[in-house]
Amino acid sequence: MKKHNFSAGPSILSPYTIKHTAEGILDLDQSGLSVMEISHRSKEFIAIMDETQQLFKDLLDIPSGYSVLLLQGGASLQFCMVPYNLLQTKAAYLDTGSWASKAAKEAKLFGEVEVVASSKDTTYSYIPKGYVIPSDADYFHITTNNTIYGTEIKEDMDVPMHLVADMSSDIFSRPMDVSKYALIYGGAQKNLAPAGVTFVIVKDEILGKVTRPIPTMLNYQTHIDNGSMFNTPPCVAIYAAMHTLRWYMDQGGLAAMHKLNLEKAGILYDEIDGSPIFTSNIGDVNDRSIMNVTFVMKEEYKEKEADFLAFAGSRGMSGLKGHRSVGGVRASIYNAMPISSVEALVETMKAFEQNL
Ligand SMILES: *Cc1c(COP(=O)(O)O)cnc(C)c1O
Repeated sequence: MKKHNFSAGPSILSPYTIKHTAEGILDLDQSGLSVMEISHRSKEFIAIMDETQQLFKDLLDIPSGYSVLLLQGGASLQFCMVPYNLLQTKAAYLDTGSWASKAAKEAKLFGEVEVVASSKDTTYSYIPKGYVIPSDADYFHITTNNTIYGTEIKEDMDVPMHLVADMSSDIFSRPMDVSKYALIYGGAQKNLAPAGVTFVIVKDEILGKVTRPIPTMLNYQTHIDNGSMFNTPPCVAIYAAMHTLRWYMDQGGLAAMHKLNLEKAGILYDEIDGSPIFTSNIGDVNDRSIMNVTFVMKEEYKEKEADFLAFAGSRGMSGLKGHRSVGGVRASIYNAMPISSVEALVETMKAFEQNL
């Protein structure tokens, strides 16, 4: 039986992505060769790279003057590349979780870092508001979706300095205004492809402003100048990403994905809010993620948590255990998750409530 995959990352991919990637691994477009064994400089792979970058631009409506890079090293290497390329004297960071805090930690190697606000005091259960960003910051860094805690910044904010966003776990979940950002990055393994490829969307004109020398591979300009082919790119992961993006297009683009995501998250939060035993740990409804839905058992049922996870497991649900730093339950309901799996989870929660 195919499982309902609620894993936080690497996570569910559409059956379309998996089927077409598998076909290309066996035989790429009847070429008699696998996508794993052709040159990245072949015309076949160049077409894959070009289409993937173009689909990024089409789906996200990326304005001209931006480059789409497909790199390696994960979002975690971007924690270092961003300040390496952009931090001359000072950067501002919003601390909304452990990924955000790891990003700020790397930036400290390159200059002054001001953490403008943090929700660490409540294990990151909310998105701080009303903070002041120092006007002399070279950029302001945010993590739009806090994968571990289930909070999300769902609107593109206006700030007077360059805005940099880690969108590892909510890219492609909604239409967005890329023009408000100077740089957006993320690992692919949540809403795009298997692990191994990292996307960067960067406004070209922000580069070349820092005075420090930058190692070739860590310099965004290298990858812009070479079309993400300075060295061998992660070919298979990019091939899979292309199929995911084709599938998003077929589904009606990001407006359609967003509508479905809101519907899925709505069904699940309604169940949590109406439940006698489950409750949300995210107080402000506006802060609740539509990608990672976290919840806990009410105090009097706390000891039943392991039983619930085992019960859900017996009904074909996988990956529901909350991150070790927060506990509880986390249902990651990325773009590829069908509404039927969310409905199955809600039925499981109701059945558990009734059997108590
Ligand atoms: C998963 C995740 C990361 C880490 O990504 P890697 O590719 O493993 O480095 C960083 N930020 C966020 C928001 C994530 O969800």
